[in-house]
Amino acid sequence: MKHSKYSAVVVGSGIAGLYAAIKLQREVNLPQGLLIVTKSKLIESNSKYAQGGMVCVMPENKLDSTTLHIEDTIKAGAGLTDRKAAEYISQKSAQVVKELQNFGVDFDRDENNKLKFTKEAAHSVNRILHAGGDATGFCIENALVKYILTQKEVKIYEQTLAVELLKDKNNINRGIITYNYDENEYEIIETPAVIIATGGIGQIYRYTTNPDITTGDGIALAYRAGAKVRDMEFVQFHPTAFSLGENGTMFLISEAVRGEGAKLTDKFGHTFMEKYDERLELAPRDIVTRAIYNELKL
Ligand SMILES: Cc1cc2nc3c(=O)[nH]c(=O)nc-3n(C[C@H](O)[C@H](O)[C@H](O)COP(=O)(O)OP(=O)(O)OC[C@H]3O[C@@H](n4cnc5c(N)ncnc54)[C@H](O)[C@@H]3O)c2cc1C
Repeated sequence: MKHSKYSAVVVGSGIAGLYAAIKLQREVNLPQGLLIVTKSKLIESNSKYAQGGMVCVMPENKLDSTTLHIEDTIKAGAGLTDRKAAEYISQKSAQVVKELQNFGVDFDRDENNKLKFTKEAAHSVNRILHAGGDATGFCIENALVKYILTQKEVKIYEQTLAVELLKDKNNINRGIITYNYDENEYEIIETPAVIIATGGIGQIYRYTTNPDITTGDGIALAYRAGAKVRDMEFVQFHPTAFSLGENGTMFLISEAVRGEGAKLTDKFGHTFMEKYDERLELAPRDIVTRAIYNELKL
């Protein structure tokens, strides 16, 4: 079996994994180098398919504030929001956007070169940044991929699955075992630090807009090694998709379409959201989804 040593390993090459890898590489001393392990191609991820945009509270958006964003988030969370997490994400969002811009992400701008903000469900003001029109995830992922490929000291294993975390007798993490599909080969990687950024579990559902890689095995890997997992019932989903056929394949009809004024209608062309919520098509996703489900049953 192959054997190697790194100062840190990042598992997953979506936006979370690549962003973590770039930050580690810029801010931490890594004498034995950094390795990214990813089970498909570097760019393949949920991140690549994200469309509508990225929520952020930017200082130049004078109608917005972190207080308002946190309020909106808590309202949309139906009493289940972790306030500290909402505050942290909101307060850090402008800084993250600036960093992404430094890493090469171009968010869409208006004719005066000012950032463009759109609206999505449950937001009381326009605060969604987007890139490439409706290809925000692809633009961010692609920029981070390009950036990381310029960092010669970062090693990348594609087509490689992280299969097990290694611990010593004191339960301290010592490394990871990987399996490369192309070479049909396992490898033991010694490292004191593993970041697991392996995305979600969308593929457990029959109908999903998530790509095939979204099978949750990174979460299982962490769980088997003793990590605590929490809030597993919270799976992000979208109310609207375009069905491509009987085998369940579909693509997302982005939230941003309703944000820009699209209406939901029944098979007779009648709108129905007025029966369910005064925010109509811009009610939070759970409400819109239940309304659609209810209409389908009528
Ligand atoms: C169609 C669609 C539209 C979306 N639109 C939006 C939007 O407009 N705005 C928004 O904020 N969010 C949106 N999302 C959600 C968003 O894309 C995800 O929340 C986000 O991309 C998750 O990023 P991530 O890096 O955590 O995971 P991912 O991008 O899924 O990356 C996970 C990575 O881990 C790798 N991996 C998994 N398991 C292993 C393993 N065992 N070993 C090695 N590698 C492994 C995968 O190959 C992949 O590289 C959308 C999602 C979809 C599917």
